Amino acid sequence: MPTARQWLLNGHPRNRRIEDGDFKLVETEIGEPGEGQMLLKTRWLGFDPAQKGWMENIADYVAPMAIGEVMRGSGIAEVVASNGGRFAVGDLVFGTTGWTEYLVSDGKDLTRVETSLPPTAVMSVLGTTGVTAWCGLFKIGKPVAGDTVVVSGAAGATGSIVGQLAKIAGCRAIGIAGGAEKCRWLVEEAGYDAAIDYKAGDIKQQIKDLCPNGIDVIFDNVGGAILDAMLTRIATGARVVICGGISRYESGGLPAGPSNYFNLVFRRASMAGFIVLDWAAEFPDIRKRLEAFVADGRLAYREDIQHGFENAPATLQRLFVGANRGKQLLEL
Ligand code: NAP
Repeated sequence: MPTARQWLLNGHPRNRRIEDGDFKLVETEIGEPGEGQMLLKTRWLGFDPAQKGWMENIADYVAPMAIGEVMRGSGIAEVVASNGGRFAVGDLVFGTTGWTEYLVSDGKDLTRVETSLPPTAVMSVLGTTGVTAWCGLFKIGKPVAGDTVVVSGAAGATGSIVGQLAKIAGCRAIGIAGGAEKCRWLVEEAGYDAAIDYKAGDIKQQIKDLCPNGIDVIFDNVGGAILDAMLTRIATGARVVICGGISRYESGGLPAGPSNYFNLVFRRASMAGFIVLDWAAEFPDIRKRLEAFVADGRLAYREDIQHGFENAPATLQRLFVGANRGKQLLEL
């Protein structure tokens, strides 16, 4: 009977940071694949700030997570045995594997990795990250050539793709990120026209200097004071895309509302949130277009690959201190 190490949820980190005790490492018997099932070996895990919301049970678009459940998360796994399953032995598949070294699955919710890029791309530029950037920017932000697009969390996995897509659409892209090194990377490697270091002082003034005609599209991953600062400078008819609110995770709770939201009235602007899963039917087409942009050199992406299953909790925590450089992954 095969066994697997698994990380279980052991605490709901509400109103506080994630702690080591919120996870428990166990060794579990996972059984043999039954008729139509496969045994999968997890090769890589992918990390998203939303996982903290799932742990807290604050995200209402996914099922609540109970203490003792295998930690939910995305992954790429290899089919190592099949009892008449959907995929062949040796295939790589991706989906919600959870934090487990092995799993038995009928494969219904998994997709075969089929890309000319390295397989991990299905969790970064071609994964939820890439399609979130695409859907948030084009479906909600509706950029027009010549627009000024400002992105918070710009050096992260999603934000770095948003800026490049905005450039492809003929816009001017300004990124906000923490630290000089990330800001340099934004301009030198990720194609942003300019970058704002929110750790280096007056963000409002920096935005004013770089956006003299106002901001046409805000793509916000952060919320809080940074969203407030961006809202101060919106242009008439601006679109404000609320993708995430990572700044809230330090204190817990949902982020406070922006104090200057009334600027939306003065500027006849709109602000909308979205859940990317609502466009799941379009993901295959969007992935093809993203892959083509990578292939023709217009879209660069970066992955931050940590190692060792035992490091899964520490790898998740990297997102909340800005330690990740691009899409946070873990190789088992
Ligand atoms: P990511 O941006 O690669 O990583 C998180 C980044 O957030 C860190 O590198 C850090 O960069 C920044 N950060 C952390 N704490 C912060 C704080 N207190 N204030 C400001 N910035 C902070 O993560 P991602 O996977 O691409 O996700 C980005 C956002 O998209 C998340 O909020 C996620 O939940 C959201 N998302 C939404 C959807 C949807 O359907 N709406 C789907 C997927 C993802 P710095 O060093 O620059 O601070």
